[in-house]
Amino acid sequence: MTLLEVDGIDVAYGDVQVVWDVSFSVTEGETVALLGANGAGKTTVLKTICGPLTPSAGDISFNGESIGHLQQDEVVPKGVTHIPEGREIFSDSTVRENLRLGAYTNRDGMRERLDRVYEIFPRLEERKGQKAGTLSGGEQQMLAIGRGLMSDPDLILLDEASLGLAPVLVEDVFDAIERINEEGTTVLLVEQDVNNALRIADRGYVLESGRMNLSGSAEELATDDRVAASYLGG
Ligand code: ATP
Repeated sequence: MTLLEVDGIDVAYGDVQVVWDVSFSVTEGETVALLGANGAGKTTVLKTICGPLTPSAGDISFNGESIGHLQQDEVVPKGVTHIPEGREIFSDSTVRENLRLGAYTNRDGMRERLDRVYEIFPRLEERKGQKAGTLSGGEQQMLAIGRGLMSDPDLILLDEASLGLAPVLVEDVFDAIERINEEGTTVLLVEQDVNNALRIADRGYVLESGRMNLSGSAEELATDDRVAASYLGG
């Protein structure tokens, strides 16, 4: 079943259009990678799905319902969670408080969800009483993902989850994403780390200068010269 359908969206910041006629879909249970060079429009597309931006043309539907013009606080209860680039955790609150805040739209089953997050990220349980601002970069990224899971999403949008992390932590974060998907959450991820993204993804799409120019299975894209070329901006 198609969970997310992005249908011919244009997106602009004020008068400056940065996304043109972008279409793609995500089926329930998949992990899909949205790839492209710096400035290609990946973050803009995620922000249009999850609320802060709205398309000037086209539409987005989730579970068959139009969400293109909804705000973020209206999209989260429908089952879409966005983990923004840069994490945006509450530094002065503890790990546990940050996780509880993630469940703000749905507080039923809080205990079970906390247990699930601690199972995926044991490090967070060890540090549950620690102020989030004192966590390492990798731990903060785990916390940002864990907080997103606390709203019990059907679809999780991950923006550059591996950015700035040491290689060993990058592996951990991708393994965690893989596990989250195996446990039933559909994943749409934006990544500069093409190799790791295509390692865990089923399919991918490549944006180039605000337009969709390539799509295929992860295996097809991993061996396609045009993928490498589009990362060099060529
Ligand atoms: P990166 O991998 O570098 O994060 P990206 O593919 O996510 O890039 P976007 O952040 O979506 O790209 O940016 C797409 C284009 O929109 C860029 O040209 C960028 O300069 C522009 N842009 C992004 N945010 C704004 C904004 N708030 N106002 C004006 N232009 C913006």
